[in-house]
Amino acid sequence: MRTKIIAGNWKMNKTPKEAVALVKELKELVADATCDVVVCPPAVCLPGVVAEAQGSNIRVGAQNVHFEKSGAFTGEISPDMLKSMEVGYAIIGHSERRQYFGETDETVNKRTIAALAGSLIPIVCVGESLEQREQGITAEIVSMQTKLAFQGISSAYAQMTVIAYEPVWAIGTGKTATADQANEVCAIIRNTIKELYGNDTAQRIRIQYGGSMNAANAAELLAKPDIDGGLIGGASLKAEDFSTIVKAASV
Ligand code: PEP
Repeated sequence: MRTKIIAGNWKMNKTPKEAVALVKELKELVADATCDVVVCPPAVCLPGVVAEAQGSNIRVGAQNVHFEKSGAFTGEISPDMLKSMEVGYAIIGHSERRQYFGETDETVNKRTIAALAGSLIPIVCVGESLEQREQGITAEIVSMQTKLAFQGISSAYAQMTVIAYEPVWAIGTGKTATADQANEVCAIIRNTIKELYGNDTAQRIRIQYGGSMNAANAAELLAKPDIDGGLIGGASLKAEDFSTIVKAASV
């Protein structure tokens, strides 16, 4: 039985003050959750959000993490820096980072290895573009992205990792994959993990769906057997909507 995990990706939204206010509102609303709850605010908001979330069931994640320990990497943040701030998770390889910031399968792999070595739980994003879906190569794409992301990672570390299946065409577009489409691809990803590590790891690893998941469609998506949670963008910016999704994952 896998514990579901709902994570909010706030992207480049909220000032530090606004971020603290959102967590304050949220922590009351999700206090009874039986799933894992994570919020991933912008880096400048992390200290305030960690402090506000203390003593609650909300965990905090970063939206990216660098693979080197320290040095001349302007603008980057290391796993040790995040860990020292009591950040527990890091989103890695989000499609916006792949599209706008030159993220590749190779850097996703390096970041995942570094995050695990630094005791952070990676949330590794994979997903096909609309063109790839229309070409009928979704399974090949997500399977390849998964294999490359996990290169050189032990099964013990793989089990701790969270994978987010995020079809690029569904992110921020209001177009959600149907529950069956999402479940089918999550099952393909789980099967890829089975090929790499065997059935035990495949049954333990958590695979989220992300892409316009909201308060209205979450319950149907989360009821599917291979969907172990959600990575939520737009709907994570409103406490009511996010907490409704958390409740749908807590049944
Ligand atoms: C995301 O950015 O990870 C995401 C799923 O966004 P949205 O929910 O807004 O589609």
